[in-house]
Amino acid sequence: MEIACLDLEGVLVPEIWIEFANKTGIESLKATTRDIPDYDELMRQRLRILDEHNLKIQDIQEVIATLKPLEGAREFIDWLRERFQVIILSDTFYEFSQPLMRQLGFPTLFCHRLVTDDSGRVVDYKLRQADPKRQSIRALQTIYYRTIAAGDSYNDTTMLAEADAGILFHAPQNVIDEFPQFPAVHSFDELKKEFIKASNRELSL
Ligand SMILES: [Mg+2]
Repeated sequence: MEIACLDLEGVLVPEIWIEFANKTGIESLKATTRDIPDYDELMRQRLRILDEHNLKIQDIQEVIATLKPLEGAREFIDWLRERFQVIILSDTFYEFSQPLMRQLGFPTLFCHRLVTDDSGRVVDYKLRQADPKRQSIRALQTIYYRTIAAGDSYNDTTMLAEADAGILFHAPQNVIDEFPQFPAVHSFDELKKEFIKASNRELSL
């Protein structure tokens, strides 16, 4: 039995915080872990900025609903789900990603959670666990699934290493150079071929 595990942002959909910052014109929301390496500090800043702009979860979802998955992503995931059980392993938040997941046909998603109050104000966030992508692969292995994983960035590399096969997709050159053990591809057609190659079944395009 095989499960395909996919990263979300950068693989199927754009970087959600960046696109949200673009749509709302709030420049300060463009900060990422490259600017503020401490993730908790970064998230506290993001929540503070949402508050300053009086953005409730409903407003945020409305803006995110105007975003589109990456070109070809819906077709790719439909293709993949005919051949594998598919789980998306992401560091996003359910409440944030929902409008994009709807456009992808609501595949199974393991990610984190935002905490809102009655008015819809985002008051906190809850990470599901530490190193969640790798832990999910490990958990699947304990129930005897073979796993093939694809992702685009540093936060995916422990998942790719833990999986039976790991594939870099849309990865920047520095990640490709640093992790030469993983095949690196840049189009959904190539990614399909890598999944077929990594499978232990006779699959066809
Ligand atoms: Mg990503």
